[in-house]
Amino acid sequence: MTDAPAPPAQPRSTAPVHPARVRRILDRPETPGPVLYWMHREMRATGNWALLHARERAAARNQPLAVVFCLAGGYPPAAMSHFAFMIHGLAETARTLAAKGIPLMVLRGAPGREVAAFARETRAGLVVTDADPTKPKRAWLADLLADADCPVEEVDARNVVPARLVSPKAEVMARTLRPKIQRLLPEFLTPFPELTPQDAPWPGPAPRTDWPALLAEFSTPQPSFPPGATMAAATLENFLREGLPRYADARNSPLEPAGSRLSPYLHFGQLSAQTVALRVLAANAPVEARTAFLEQLIVRRELAENFCLYVPHYDTIDAFPAWAKATLGKHATDTRAVLPDDQLEAGETPDPLWNAAQRQLLATGHMHGWLRMYWAKQLLPWSRDAETALARVLRLNDSLSLDGRDVNGYAGAAWSIGGVHDRPWPERRVFGCVRSMTASGATRKFNVRAFVERWTRPSLI
Ligand SMILES: Cc1cc2nc3c(=O)[nH]c(=O)nc-3n(C[C@H](O)[C@H](O)[C@H](O)COP(=O)(O)OP(=O)(O)OC[C@H]3O[C@@H](n4cnc5c(N)ncnc54)[C@H](O)[C@@H]3O)c2cc1C
Repeated sequence: MTDAPAPPAQPRSTAPVHPARVRRILDRPETPGPVLYWMHREMRATGNWALLHARERAAARNQPLAVVFCLAGGYPPAAMSHFAFMIHGLAETARTLAAKGIPLMVLRGAPGREVAAFARETRAGLVVTDADPTKPKRAWLADLLADADCPVEEVDARNVVPARLVSPKAEVMARTLRPKIQRLLPEFLTPFPELTPQDAPWPGPAPRTDWPALLAEFSTPQPSFPPGATMAAATLENFLREGLPRYADARNSPLEPAGSRLSPYLHFGQLSAQTVALRVLAANAPVEARTAFLEQLIVRRELAENFCLYVPHYDTIDAFPAWAKATLGKHATDTRAVLPDDQLEAGETPDPLWNAAQRQLLATGHMHGWLRMYWAKQLLPWSRDAETALARVLRLNDSLSLDGRDVNGYAGAAWSIGGVHDRPWPERRVFGCVRSMTASGATRKFNVRAFVERWTRPSLI
């Protein structure tokens, strides 16, 4: 962003949900009956446009609202620790909703089918759900639409500016999306209204959730990221004080990172990016710092959403631009030092910086943002071709990163290996004209030796 936009004038809005956030994706005859909000991406009780829309629709129909969450048997390649973070965060959301008189019910099984069956059983008049362009969620949604017999509405509560409104097509790069976002920000970057409590009791039977038993099924969450909305808010406040003022200069230094570490909370929907943006705009920090942060939080994050929304095979080399496919093809026969998967996973490659980054990821479930680019790009010369390199980035990132399985990860991997959202650079071995990054480049940015030492000494791992 070229300038941080002015903060909105009013402290708290009572405006209803902007209609451009809402899309009716299944038209069925309107019937009376309760409203269900199927929460699967935005797992929070505050600052959630989808929940606010569902509450508004329930109030207008004089019907009760319930939130349903369906725990799928698996979500490959998510790890147990990722489920633990999600479920512990959801327990807090359930408590906050209960205090507003809104029940959160946990179903189990194939999510789309289970939610459709529950909607039928409870004679729901409307299902509201989160928009999500990733493939597993599209499949869940298709199941819901195949089985549901009431109308279904999808709400974009992830993006500050709704992704379908800001652009109807895949954007080439940040430069092409940025002005479109900036034009619409004043209309959408508004404070959230309060979620109003409801008095109407839920009619009929409802599945009771034994939270202690459910939480006991999952391991204790990783200590580096304590889950839930309260911890997300605390992390944000800490960043506003400590990291934001240094963000413009220090965000690319993995040694004393100025990053927010908010990505797991944003990924699991325990915190809204819009809330973060509003707090950053009002923060006492240099305008360059606020602008640099909002560029990542809004433009880059919403570019990633645009990528997954409009590029059907966003996780394959088909997503690469023509120039990148051509240059990678030209260099396909360049000699490479191919490394096996287990050597990569253990962080035992010939590159100490790469190993240190991998060990940071293994130990904390997080890798510094600048290193993520370097780490991903090194997989190209260590893999037999670009397709394998991309698959390896995605497998490692999605299985080890707490914030993995996210549109940002798919865009970041495609940028690193396939020049997506980038331009051609001077030609080099293996990479062709795809931008490369070197260990010597890293030494110009930060003290690589100190970083390597930090993540090599066993006492700190
Ligand atoms: C190979 C690769 C894989 C990545 N995988 C993921 C992933 O799985 N999940 C994920 O959330 N991000 C991913 N990113 C993007 C970025 O590295 C992380 O968002 C960032 O490191 C998270 O740390 P932070 O919250 O401290 O970021 P901050 O610097 O504090 O930024 C604030 C927020 O802005 C957004 N953001 C920052 N950088 C980017 C970016 N380059 N693209 C899109 N959004 C951005 C994120 O939501 C982030 O939490 C990946 C990048 C690369 C190159």
